[in-house]
Amino acid sequence: MRALIVEDEPHLQEQLAVALGRAGYSVDRASDGKEGLYFGTEYNYDIAIVDLGLPQIDGMDVIRRWRESNRIFPVMVLTARSSWQDKVAGLEIGADDYVVKPFQMEEVVARANALVRRAAGITQSSIRLGPIELDTNKKQVRLHEEPLDLTSYEYRVLEYLMMHPEELISKAVLTEHIYAQDFERDSNTIEVFIGRLRKKLDPDNQWKPIETVRGMGYRMNPSL
Ligand code: CA
Repeated sequence: MRALIVEDEPHLQEQLAVALGRAGYSVDRASDGKEGLYFGTEYNYDIAIVDLGLPQIDGMDVIRRWRESNRIFPVMVLTARSSWQDKVAGLEIGADDYVVKPFQMEEVVARANALVRRAAGITQSSIRLGPIELDTNKKQVRLHEEPLDLTSYEYRVLEYLMMHPEELISKAVLTEHIYAQDFERDSNTIEVFIGRLRKKLDPDNQWKPIETVRGMGYRMNPSL
């Protein structure tokens, strides 16, 4: 999952990026409203975390302009203002959740996970497909009830596919959602991750958990 952080305070931005990175997100960062508006308009995020008090363009304005240009990713607002008028205003312009500073990083990460799941229509923190169980909070996978060892990128690919189980996901979409913007991207690496996931999930090539639809992309086996 790919996250955008729009926060002008360097130390807080760094802490958020580290916490979300540890939680398995690819993170892009913007330090002012103008840059944040550009990133969120240009790229497809799974979640954006936006401070309200920002240089250049205010956080409320950034969110309103994203929504006006039909950017529908979930948005969590960070603010030092705790008045209910601000909360209502934020929710009215299209924010999905609110955290008041100072906050615990664990809380932000847990709420971000919940927003991402909610956007995918998933109500529980674990997703199960056949013998695969993916815990989106702990970022752990179990296969036939046994822990399965995945690298961070293997996990990200599987998580994205499992959160969109009925959709055909192209390599381009996977690339966009598992890497941050400044990452050296190569869509061939997606094929490598898919190949490794298949080996780990289905070493004897029996139940084909991940299907390839030629020229279109990948999806989880619909019979799971
Ligand atoms: Ca600020």
